[in-house]
Amino acid sequence: MMSKVEKISAIRGMNDILPADAAAWEHLEKTLHGLTRAYGYESIRTPIVESTALFKRGIGEVTDIVEKEMYSFEDRLNGEPLTLRPEGTAAVVRATIEHNLIYDGPKRLWYTGPMFRHERPQRGRYRQFYQFGIEALGFAGPDIDAEIILMGQRLWDELGLQGVRLEINSLGQADERAAHRAALLAYFEKNSGQLDEDSQRRLATNPLRILDSKNPAMQNLIEAAPRLLDFLGSESLRHFETVQALLKANNVHCKINPRLVRGLDYYNLTVFEWITDSLGAQGTIAGGGRYDPLIERMGGKPAPACGWAMGIERVIELMKASNSIPESEAVCDIYVCHQGADTLSSALIAAENLRSAGIDVVMHASPEGTPSSFKSQMKKADASGAAFALIIGPDELAQESAQLKDLRGGGGQRMIPLNDLLSTVIDALVASSSD
Ligand code: ATP
Ligand code: MG
Repeated sequence: MMSKVEKISAIRGMNDILPADAAAWEHLEKTLHGLTRAYGYESIRTPIVESTALFKRGIGEVTDIVEKEMYSFEDRLNGEPLTLRPEGTAAVVRATIEHNLIYDGPKRLWYTGPMFRHERPQRGRYRQFYQFGIEALGFAGPDIDAEIILMGQRLWDELGLQGVRLEINSLGQADERAAHRAALLAYFEKNSGQLDEDSQRRLATNPLRILDSKNPAMQNLIEAAPRLLDFLGSESLRHFETVQALLKANNVHCKINPRLVRGLDYYNLTVFEWITDSLGAQGTIAGGGRYDPLIERMGGKPAPACGWAMGIERVIELMKASNSIPESEAVCDIYVCHQGADTLSSALIAAENLRSAGIDVVMHASPEGTPSSFKSQMKKADASGAAFALIIGPDELAQESAQLKDLRGGGGQRMIPLNDLLSTVIDALVASSSD
């Protein structure tokens, strides 16, 4: 009687990324590596788990992430409050301060990896998802705002993504936001009957975030609210105008969205998002901005900074929708067939020698652990995508040779001496790839 063993499934909202999607992920990763090199950004890797206090201070208490999305827990062994990172910037800033990374001047950094937010899982919204992000630390000028936006634009172009639009806004400086906040408070208080429950709460804590509300019933009220842009002083305006002029000079179109405030607490001056209509409700593929106050707020020497982060799953979806994923490359060059015993040993040595020369080789192995029939091995060889099968059976071995069978070009099969293996296989691969 078979015992029924209960299967353990993955956690809701946390996905396996399967081999069928490998080509897309690898293409994106390769493109991102090229992008960071092209702009002189260096890689940084920070831990997935950090002190809960880091995100409370770094992201802000009155944000969606800290209020309701963090995976926080106590380390059972020492009682430390810990959190799975919900985003990358706080940790990059922590590491920058901890290792004094900008003591000798600004730094351009990039990171990628899984992030964790306890949200309701739906298309484009997961509890574990991947981000790629860049942070330019220690630069104050609008040139860097423009640079990081141009990087994003180049990325969408290189990936062949269609229909990505850029929205941009300026959040000004703290005193300008304070003046706007006072006007906003007065406005929302006067109209408090029209505020939904979330917004009532934000009225007391962070009225700017009311502008972020997606509630359709609130949109008219939000539309007519005092605009932060009208409260910006001349320096903030100049910064914003320079960013726009630099983008325009590089043919990057953007739309000013005065209601774009972004979810995090630490932004100032330029903020922006890239949005698409092809992904349903979760249409923001990346967003970022300037966060000059953050480094000081985290205990570092005051230094300006800006950056952006993108959601990799959403970008992969858009790559699929834009038909811009290249065919996956052949899995291997050579598929090696054998008949066990001595032929296995020779086949394995031949495969290792080929690999040492940089040739990709798959060795036949059967589920039973004993050699399968020649016919079934050839089927596997065909399916492997290899250009050639290398067959070492007892007859071949007796002649210290192997058969090299052309699997694609119809070039037939020939006997080759094992001591000439490498040069013959290389010649054959070169000839077949130039066909
Ligand atoms: P949203 O408004 O969609 O909740 P956000 O403002 O919370 O996004 P950011 O914190 O700016 O998102 O993160 C940057 C990017 O990471 C987003 O633009 C999005 O592409 C992606 N992202 C954010 N949350 C998720 C999630 N739960 N699942 C998948 N991708 C996500
Ligand atoms: Mg969110």
